[in-house]
Amino acid sequence: MNRILLAGMACLWVQPAVAQLSALELNLADYIDAHHDEAIELLIEVVNINSGTQNFAGVAAVGQVFRERFEALGMTTQWIDGSAWNRAGHLVARTNPTQANGPHLLLIGHLDTVFQRDSPFQEYEYLGDYIGRGPGIADMKGGNVIILQALAALNDQGLLHDMAITVYLTGDEESSGEAVLARADLRVVAQQADIALGFENGDGDPSTAIPARRGYASWELRVTGNPAHSSQIFQDEVGSGAIFEASRILNAFHEELGGEQYLTFNPGIIMGGTELNFASDEGRGDAFGLPNVVAQHAIARGDLRMISNAQTARARTTMERIVSENLPLTSAELIFNSGMPPFPDSEGNRRLLEFFSQASQDLGFGAVTAVDPSRAGAADISYVGEFVEMAIDGMGMGGANDHTVNETGDLESLRVQAKRAAVLMHRLETGNWKLETGNWKLETRN
Ligand SMILES: [Zn+2]
Repeated sequence: MNRILLAGMACLWVQPAVAQLSALELNLADYIDAHHDEAIELLIEVVNINSGTQNFAGVAAVGQVFRERFEALGMTTQWIDGSAWNRAGHLVARTNPTQANGPHLLLIGHLDTVFQRDSPFQEYEYLGDYIGRGPGIADMKGGNVIILQALAALNDQGLLHDMAITVYLTGDEESSGEAVLARADLRVVAQQADIALGFENGDGDPSTAIPARRGYASWELRVTGNPAHSSQIFQDEVGSGAIFEASRILNAFHEELGGEQYLTFNPGIIMGGTELNFASDEGRGDAFGLPNVVAQHAIARGDLRMISNAQTARARTTMERIVSENLPLTSAELIFNSGMPPFPDSEGNRRLLEFFSQASQDLGFGAVTAVDPSRAGAADISYVGEFVEMAIDGMGMGGANDHTVNETGDLESLRVQAKRAAVLMHRLETGNWKLETGNWKLETRN
């Protein structure tokens, strides 16, 4: 990470009164307009290649299409094979500036979709009114095209190769491989970067972006009781049984943690009885029990969504205490699995959102506001947030109904977002960062 830069960046802000595009910024916007039809063609081409996470060849094929485009811009590319984490892999593209003066930008996208090879949803279709329907159109092949368009515009103005930019398109965002392995390289790249921009579709509304997302974890509750005839339940030698104990625990989770802002947890499955067979990974199983037998086993499995690691730690401590306060002659165990880390809110992220919003207003597209974190799910930006000074996500394509066969993308939003991204990146790279009394200021130089 560039320490000199960070010292400067600790003190910056968008000047709200400066609301104009420079000649060069106008050229960026014009380039994107002039190449809008090509962007749509590229989008259709990649939407029509199935790249469900498990279709490794398809993910690689989409990667190859983008790889050629990044190479055509003079960027260096690399395909990181994903066999170690049982996924297709990731595409990385880099500029190679001899000397970059600005911050190192990390642009994040993904190549895969939730629509597997056997999905009925495989093809692009134009619905009229600038709306296209297709698998992964907004989530997020459109976002990848936006990255490419913005970089092409910067390249057209001769700016790209003086900028330090790494594009990272993962091949398994929708169903990631074992996270430690699958995201290890991304996290190394993030440590060299200063600012991360995520091109997910966010909440589908291009007038919003995401300065904070919740992470998730999963947990499994295993409870054991003392099997006996039901007529003896609550006696000293029999106790309360596993099902009452599991009920007590889950109810206490609800009572004690249910009101905390940005924290949610959901038991998605519960089983109890005399005998259980539970396949945790598949979320299915079978149980046997009788009304006149005190239950010996109970199991529940759920998730947890949180805004910060501190919130995870607090929730976990409370849950473990509740689990330990057992009813008579029962025992319980809570197994916690970390999933995806949160992307916590920060002053830097809020400032970056202001820069983005300012670029948008200067382009005539209006302000960009923050999505409420409780409405923003986990995404790859969560793996890099802790390493960069500033990050936002949700700079991708507008659309609706992602993860369903009715997924649509707003084709006009491609050019809007590409212009915003190009102007923002240019300003981040060339801005004069300076402190003015009580205010953070970014002034454009040209
Ligand atoms: Zn996505």
